[in-house]
Amino acid sequence: MKKPMLATLAALTALLNLPLLAANEKVLRPDIVVVGAGASGTAAALEAAEHGAKVLVLEKQAVPGGTGNMAEGLFAAESSLQQRQGIIVTRDMAFKTIMDYSHWLANPRIAMAFVNRSADTIDWLKGEGVKFEYIGPGGPGGPLTWHVMVGHSRQMLSTLRERFAALGGEILLETPGQALIQEKGRVTGILAQNKAGDHLRIEAKAVIIATGGFANNKEMLKKYARYPEVIPVGNVGKDGDGLRMAWAAGAAQDTMITQSYRPGLAGFAPNSHLIAAAVQPYLWVDTKGIRYTDESTVVLWPYSTNKLEKIGGTAYSIYDEATRKFLEDEKGIPIPMGEWLLTNTKLTKLDKELAAELAKNNGNVVKADTLEGLAQALKMDPAALKATVAVNNQDADSHQDSVFGKNPIYQRAMRTPPFYATKLHPRDLGTLGGVMINEQMQAVTPARDPIPGLYVVGNDASGMYGDSYDLLLGGGTLGFAVNSGRIAADHAVLAAGIRKP
Ligand SMILES: Cc1cc2nc3c(=O)[nH]c(=O)nc-3n(C[C@H](O)[C@H](O)[C@H](O)COP(=O)(O)OP(=O)(O)OC[C@H]3O[C@@H](n4cnc5c(N)ncnc54)[C@H](O)[C@@H]3O)c2cc1C
Repeated sequence: MKKPMLATLAALTALLNLPLLAANEKVLRPDIVVVGAGASGTAAALEAAEHGAKVLVLEKQAVPGGTGNMAEGLFAAESSLQQRQGIIVTRDMAFKTIMDYSHWLANPRIAMAFVNRSADTIDWLKGEGVKFEYIGPGGPGGPLTWHVMVGHSRQMLSTLRERFAALGGEILLETPGQALIQEKGRVTGILAQNKAGDHLRIEAKAVIIATGGFANNKEMLKKYARYPEVIPVGNVGKDGDGLRMAWAAGAAQDTMITQSYRPGLAGFAPNSHLIAAAVQPYLWVDTKGIRYTDESTVVLWPYSTNKLEKIGGTAYSIYDEATRKFLEDEKGIPIPMGEWLLTNTKLTKLDKELAAELAKNNGNVVKADTLEGLAQALKMDPAALKATVAVNNQDADSHQDSVFGKNPIYQRAMRTPPFYATKLHPRDLGTLGGVMINEQMQAVTPARDPIPGLYVVGNDASGMYGDSYDLLLGGGTLGFAVNSGRIAADHAVLAAGIRKP
């Protein structure tokens, strides 16, 4: 009896052109499906919903926001807030900075589309209820483009999610997108699986991929990153799903880099006092005990991380007891850790964090009463380290850097035992790029033809960088995430006939 009934059902579904569903398979039909509820996905989802689209968002994790929950501010040029404060950062200047920094390896149309949309996005966010605290630079002294929000990006995303929900938008948590559905070249949806094990077949007019890169995928890092052992900060479950899906649908591969962060160690939060002390620009040496860089390049982290990658990925930051006290009890840090530890913050937990790490005896931190002892513990030639420190002390006394011309305000002598060394490795805030797109954020084939129905935004998309992440204009990656999300959504609803031109 069962078999004929199934056959009839199959015949009926075929007649009505409906997919035959397994017991645990469900079909959903939003207008737009967004894959990833982080910075770019949330902006895309709300923008599309505001144009009247029925939007469904898939999120892999149990909590939405992704790395977007860690950011503090976003880039804009010629924003109403900048204009009100007399800050002059023109679009042309921002565009030129991006292009020149990348040696014109960035895609000028994408860079210009991003810069041109950025001021409008600040007003859009304000309209949604996001409040701004101040506008800062990428690195101290740089152009003021980093629009820091009250409650930072975490609060921005929660505000945007509330607005999205009010418009009837839905986010499915713990429901990773798995593979795109494609018919005659057009992307018509995505397959996903929810926590309950249901297979979802989501049929939509457009898919916007916003999965935040591949910072946690060791194999992809090995294949595509300049320094594959780079330590990811603030990234969870970034397995490159979006890149894999887009490439499988015919999208071209494009430039992939890591978003270099200040060097440091694995397992430390951005507000660690131990790391904050280690990345102050005093005396950094390679594994032979020889100074290898102008330490103050750390204000534009990609510079300091690029150099560290080039010397094999291991260095030591060395300071003495006088500097420990200076940072912990006296003046605090001259170089801020973004919004996590502001300039002049006293590192009141430094002693405790040093003691805890020393107790692990894992080589991350070493302490010794003499420079010879420190060198021996670090397996360096004591004569080399002593010579480096001698030059450092002479330079500190004469207020000049005779080796790399560092600004003398960052010179400190090292004469007061005990001496400390903290290991430094390259770290990143995620990966940037992978899928080639055009200025509408449409994924394109190697022949640069758009793949209908497929958009790629945020960290999954290439086009903004050459060989290095750019910190000259603060807020670039969060800015690109939010702006690319909005641009993609605008084009998707237009192409789907939901919005009139
Ligand atoms: C400590 C820290 C501070 C930062 N500060 C700043 C700053 O001040 N300014 C700035 O410009 N940038 C900053 N950044 C970088 C910024 O946060 C990122 O550039 C931005 O979040 C990228 O947005 P995204 O949407 O591409 O990725 P994310 O915001 O990470 O979102 C990706 C989402 O996709 C989900 N996902 C992954 N795979 C799937 C799948 N298969 N299906 C469904 N969902 C999936 C993830 O779980 C995640 O929620 C900071 C980063 C860190 C770590």
